[in-house]
Amino acid sequence: MKYDVIIIGGGPAGFTAGIYAARGGLRTILFTGSQPGGQAALTHKIENYSGVVDVEGFTLVSTMMEQAGNFGCEISFASVLDVKLAGEEKVVITDEGEYITSTVIVATGAKNRRMGLENEESLIGKGISFCATCDGSFFKDRPVAINGGGDSALTEALYLSNICSKVYLIHRRQGFRAAQILVDRVRANKKISLVLDSTVTALNGDPLNSLEVTNKVTGEKQNIAVDALFVAIGNIPNTDIFKGQLDLNEGGYIRTNEKMETNIEGVYAAGDVRITPMRQVITACADGAIAANSAIEYLS
Ligand code: NAP
Repeated sequence: MKYDVIIIGGGPAGFTAGIYAARGGLRTILFTGSQPGGQAALTHKIENYSGVVDVEGFTLVSTMMEQAGNFGCEISFASVLDVKLAGEEKVVITDEGEYITSTVIVATGAKNRRMGLENEESLIGKGISFCATCDGSFFKDRPVAINGGGDSALTEALYLSNICSKVYLIHRRQGFRAAQILVDRVRANKKISLVLDSTVTALNGDPLNSLEVTNKVTGEKQNIAVDALFVAIGNIPNTDIFKGQLDLNEGGYIRTNEKMETNIEGVYAAGDVRITPMRQVITACADGAIAANSAIEYLS
């Protein structure tokens, strides 16, 4: 069977594209891959999605998935392994077989950046985590640290301060990238200690029991005893399978125009995977809607 549109990625951008494409009459299938919901589903609390006062990320994205399904968007949990995007018939190869489509919407989002420390990978699940909502409760009444200075790091620090005995927020400079309201809340929170101008330079113990933290200005090193380190130092786009086909910037993000069109006719990108000034659930949803509309226009 040939689809009108295949959506790759099951986060807010992908599901919203699914809602608009299926509701617009396109024969639509969406591949979520192994982590349905994307990074938004791992967010403890979303309070800036307009019209919703606050909601758990998982609940919001699950509702989007249900909504897309209700309009007839097929949803598959298969992972996409490769794509052939040139030509009128595009081929999407998954771990469950090959699919043919007239258009493709890429909404594959991004994955967590690593710190690059020697034993970082082997300590995942043994003190290193990339998701406070998922793992925070394992460290109830124990000291933990967070690395990063963006919205994710500060949101997670606030979340963990309700669970853990102490939260060290380690950030490589004085200024924060996060929204000012989060910075104000973190500064006012007595359980959170700021460790600024600093990076994590070693992970001690197995399971983790302390961090070596180096001050970048003074060169001074200190050991901080913690049972967990939550890493929130940004993201890397999931674009490996599109390299050599889609036009990417030096960071690997997909170039689009305002209609979410890529360099290949009939192929669109939406959400965190594309070059965009804002990576929020609400902007990802808007991208998904625009991408689906562009596919509808292209096919009509
Ligand atoms: P981000 O905004 O890219 O912030 C990454 C942080 O990690 C920055 O503070 C950065 O420092 C630091 N960093 C980067 N590489 C590092 C390294 N190698 N070592 C140490 N520190 C490093 O990432 P994010 O916080 O995950 O947010 C991603 C996107 O999602 C953003 O657009 C954000 O607005 C959005 N988001 C929104 C919400 C919300 O609105 N509720 C919640 C979560 C995420 P510098 O500042 O020095 O560069």
